Amino acid sequence: MRPEQSPLLEVKHLNVDYESDSGTVHAVIDVSFTLRRGEILGIAGESGCGKSTLAYAVTRLLNPLAEITGGEILYRGEEASPPGPISSSAGARVGPHPIDIATLSERNLRALRWSELAIVFQSAMNSLNPVMTIGTQIDDVLRTHQPGMTRQQRRERAVEMLRLVGIAPDRLKSYPHELSGGMRQRAAIAIALTLQPKIIIMDEPTTALDVVVQREILNEVLQLRDALNFALIFITHDLSLLLELADTIAIMYAGRIVEQGAQRDLYRHPRHPYSYGLLNAFPTLTGEQRTMYGIPGTPPDLRHPPSGCAFRARCPLAFAACATELPLLQPALPGDTQQVACHLYNPRLHAAPPATEDIAAAYARQSAGRVAR
Ligand code: SF4
Repeated sequence: MRPEQSPLLEVKHLNVDYESDSGTVHAVIDVSFTLRRGEILGIAGESGCGKSTLAYAVTRLLNPLAEITGGEILYRGEEASPPGPISSSAGARVGPHPIDIATLSERNLRALRWSELAIVFQSAMNSLNPVMTIGTQIDDVLRTHQPGMTRQQRRERAVEMLRLVGIAPDRLKSYPHELSGGMRQRAAIAIALTLQPKIIIMDEPTTALDVVVQREILNEVLQLRDALNFALIFITHDLSLLLELADTIAIMYAGRIVEQGAQRDLYRHPRHPYSYGLLNAFPTLTGEQRTMYGIPGTPPDLRHPPSGCAFRARCPLAFAACATELPLLQPALPGDTQQVACHLYNPRLHAAPPATEDIAAAYARQSAGRVAR
């Protein structure tokens, strides 16, 4: 992370609801975070914890049944440092910064998307247009957002973008189905980078890929970030990926951020029992050996969130107060930058915060109990 950089994006107390036939789903609840230029923020959690909804809310690409019901998404692009080496960024001209994306008109959103804020979806096959070549799809973005560019300049930029993501320029003429899964995902990243946006959101971009290609793409993403200095929000259910990639990590559960902090702090000392469970639910990409425990059960039904802590039915350390009081995000220890929403760190409710070994031991006991039953 580059702590000297001023915030590029500040999400404050964001709430997103979905309307369904059987009730309102509270998909994102009171979420706040800050993203700085060049920073990689990883967001992890199981399916249904609100991470993708959060990404779509930030880009205002929400499903028509979803609605931002509160909070702000403040974008400060023009207050941040100047763009990197690729020339002639389109730049959004949508009024004085900060801009609240949550309330921006559709017209101004169109100016902001791709040129300032781009998204790479989970399945490149679904996000790429199957009847257009990769070259035409990059050209489309440039023609729409940079009408002053000549055909030759657009072609040069398209070649430059493919080279940046490690694809040979002759693939400009390829259709998505003619590319491997890894190449399609690289092409989607190239399109997202075409206008040199200041923020890229990647929603599970490597989930469908095998481990070797996944690792290659993660390395390329890091190199691209270093070269272009964009900020990245990387969303995944696999926390171990973020330990290799992210500067800061936020863990989401049941629509809320339950822990956030620097990557190294979260790796060494996951404070929330859910973070510990997630961290130990996947093997590491580096092959480091450790005992893995599954987290029993499933996330709660967000049409009827439980009282108190939403994780308590699955938590090996739950105690009486967890059923009645909502834990709020606060420093894990006095003066700590790592924040956690768990009563174990609230001196009013619990005698002393647990050590990481205590959380591990509780999971071991819980796991042994399940096996014995
Ligand atoms: Fe577990 Fe209670 Fe902490 Fe929730 S608040 S994670 S139930 S100990």
